Amino acid sequence: MASEFELIAKHFTRSLRPLRQTELGVGDDGALIRPSANCELAISTDLLVEGAHFFGDVEPESLGWKTLAVNLSDMAAMGATPRWATLGCVLSVDDNGVSPAPTDKYANSSDDAWLAAFARGFFACADRYGVDLVGGDTTRGSAGATTFGVTIIGEVPRGQALRRSGAQIGDLIWVSGNPGRAALGLAHLQGHVRLAGSHLAECLDALHRPIPKIELGLALRGIASSAIDVSDGLLADLGHLLIASNVSARLQISDLPEAGLARDAVLAGGDDYELVFTTASARTDEILALATQLKLPLHKIGIVLAGTAGAVKVFDHQGVDITLTRRGFDHFE
Ligand code: ADP
Ligand code: MG
Repeated sequence: MASEFELIAKHFTRSLRPLRQTELGVGDDGALIRPSANCELAISTDLLVEGAHFFGDVEPESLGWKTLAVNLSDMAAMGATPRWATLGCVLSVDDNGVSPAPTDKYANSSDDAWLAAFARGFFACADRYGVDLVGGDTTRGSAGATTFGVTIIGEVPRGQALRRSGAQIGDLIWVSGNPGRAALGLAHLQGHVRLAGSHLAECLDALHRPIPKIELGLALRGIASSAIDVSDGLLADLGHLLIASNVSARLQISDLPEAGLARDAVLAGGDDYELVFTTASARTDEILALATQLKLPLHKIGIVLAGTAGAVKVFDHQGVDITLTRRGFDHFE
């Protein structure tokens, strides 16, 4: 089996364009990065753990994309331009020290072809968003314990980052895209619902290849009063924003599905990586123009109110209170 050094050299070492934003990348004891003048660095870490965040039979190229994309989503929520990433890998070997066989249903992550596909997806996402992979760590764990951890570093002009804590009473609440698709895709794979055709394809795409809303995050600087990305579910993550801002909310979502799995997916399904944000109502025209410009739906879903911090009431289009007790999927619940 290849040594860690061989794996790093083969799959995770690429020549970076010299003297752009990275002085020294993979291969030394540390990387040297070149932050822009007058910027703050936004830094965030996310782990993807086999069994909790992906199944062993996941398609590795998509997993490589998603591993970086979920971290980029945090940069989007900060209004930051992503620049640098490090990648920690726990690759699985079974008790005999060999890569698990495909029949084991464990991610075969020490396998050369598996890792090559993972790296292809990871770098496709890195190239799309201009991110340099500047370092990491690679080690072996037991079969079924494949884990990837990314630390992402982005830049934002001093004082302009989007935060969770800025929502003001009377602000409008917006969400990008179509939350719920990733959860529906997962429900389909688990046999809880049967989707078909283009809808199925969209939901599986949302689950496997999430698109971080980087361009939206950048455009919201100076417009949004607060922002968060939707990783745990719309209500759960909105709740975090409201608590940070010490306000409550009333939601009325047009096109909300009938009660059932599809509605739960919209309100509480995780893994969407859309942005929830607030603006003063006077900014409405700017948001609608942004939706056209970015070709990204931006839905007005509610209003910020005073009251118990974090409380959310949800009404259907007829004004019936449908507030759920379930508030998003949490792996540690
Ligand atoms: P050290 O023993 O000094 O920590 P390592 O052998 O762990 O060094 O890593 C050697 C080099 O390879 C370092 O520059 C490290 O950042 C890089 N590296 C290790 N694993 C990865 C990875 N999965 N992706 C990118 N770079 C990596
Ligand atoms: Mg190391």
